[in-house]
Amino acid sequence: MKKQRIAVVGAGTAGLATATLLGRQGHAVTVIERANSLGAVGAGLLLQPSAISALSEMGCLEHMQQYGQRIDALFGWTRSGRAIMQVEYAHLGEKNDVFGLGVHRSALCHVLDTALETVPHDRWFGCEVSSIGQSDRDAVVAFRRDAEIHREAFDAVVIANGSASQLRPPALVRFDREYPWGAMWMIRPLTENLAALNRPHLQQKYDGSAVMVGALPTGCIPDADGTPMLSLFWSLPVSEISDWRAGRIDLALWKTQVIALWPELEPLISAIASPSELLPATYRDVIMSRWAQGRVGVIGDAAHAMSPQLGQGANMALLDATALASAVRQCENWDEVWGQYYRVRQGSIRFYQRMSRFLTPLFQSRMVGAARGRDLALPLSHRIPWVRRQMAETVAGRKQRWIL
Ligand SMILES: Cc1cc2nc3c(=O)[nH]c(=O)nc-3n(C[C@H](O)[C@H](O)[C@H](O)COP(=O)(O)OP(=O)(O)OC[C@H]3O[C@@H](n4cnc5c(N)ncnc54)[C@H](O)[C@@H]3O)c2cc1C
Repeated sequence: MKKQRIAVVGAGTAGLATATLLGRQGHAVTVIERANSLGAVGAGLLLQPSAISALSEMGCLEHMQQYGQRIDALFGWTRSGRAIMQVEYAHLGEKNDVFGLGVHRSALCHVLDTALETVPHDRWFGCEVSSIGQSDRDAVVAFRRDAEIHREAFDAVVIANGSASQLRPPALVRFDREYPWGAMWMIRPLTENLAALNRPHLQQKYDGSAVMVGALPTGCIPDADGTPMLSLFWSLPVSEISDWRAGRIDLALWKTQVIALWPELEPLISAIASPSELLPATYRDVIMSRWAQGRVGVIGDAAHAMSPQLGQGANMALLDATALASAVRQCENWDEVWGQYYRVRQGSIRFYQRMSRFLTPLFQSRMVGAARGRDLALPLSHRIPWVRRQMAETVAGRKQRWIL
């Protein structure tokens, strides 16, 4: 395609990666972001091997490794110490070194933004996009800056403004709801007295399906002192989040409960002085029939938000960005671009949407039977090499369909 004027709405994982790749092709890219800057917001993300490959393809992997903590496996145990989740990337049986990275969201954004800085582009930060219209000739973005509404025309618009997007073309949205379960999280230095957690593993502990606590080594945060960090997640129904935020929980009782479930967390948990030290996270489940209409496309969480149980949010965003950039490079017009993008991404996106809908209630619900079934079936399945490998492929973010 000849040089296009492209607006990318949202400077998260999907937006920054897309803007970088399209900018490298010589397109005139404008990134429009509502925040004034890319701050150190959020907690840890697990970049799976699929994301590692995408970052490597973009030439960003070495930079990312400066901040990330290598992850080799995901383990989850019941209260009695029974291993329920045992997924190791080594089960993929590959000769190459396959690994994940625990990273802070701001470190990922910093690495992608550093790559974006090397290509010509415009960035309009502090601008909240309120609507996108289109005609045969162009797509018009309306955004608010300094309390005024501005309008700007582009050849195409890529919507990458996250799971709560209100910009998705309504006719394409099949399903959009908040998950009934979310999490409280905090991020703390990975100090010496937390040695049991300083392993290249995402670790979780469960008590039935209603109680889950997870810990992810998260590497270090840009512009901080280089201290390795740990992210801690406590699963809970969204209906209980307002009680946490208002300080209406029995903190002492909660601490006793968590330490009883996972004694190695004691130094971290006993230092919590107030419920407000944990921050809430909620998730959405979004299904779209297609991810584009005319000159407007949707990618990342805006297109297919799902629960973080399979840890695929940032991975899918990076895979979307590389697939979209390759379609733009190969196609002659936007209809062709979105057609190719759909063909390349739909298998993987549909698989992970279904899988996360199936798995989430096994880990976040009050379904006693679901937890019992999980505790029986998962340990057995780990003994079957083919199933073990399929689970590793799933977690690694590489599946395109149910049977490979
Ligand atoms: C503040 C924040 C913290 C997060 N923390 C975590 C975490 O700790 N762990 C985790 O697993 N996932 C976290 N996520 C989600 C995670 O970043 C995504 O799942 C994943 O990276 C896919 O990213 P995305 O680019 O599709 O969306 P996002 O990362 O959500 O990025 C969307 C971007 O769009 C911007 N935006 C939104 N609306 C508008 C608008 N109308 N106009 C202009 N810009 C807009 C947002 O400010 C944001 O920068 C967080 C997301 C955000 C926004």
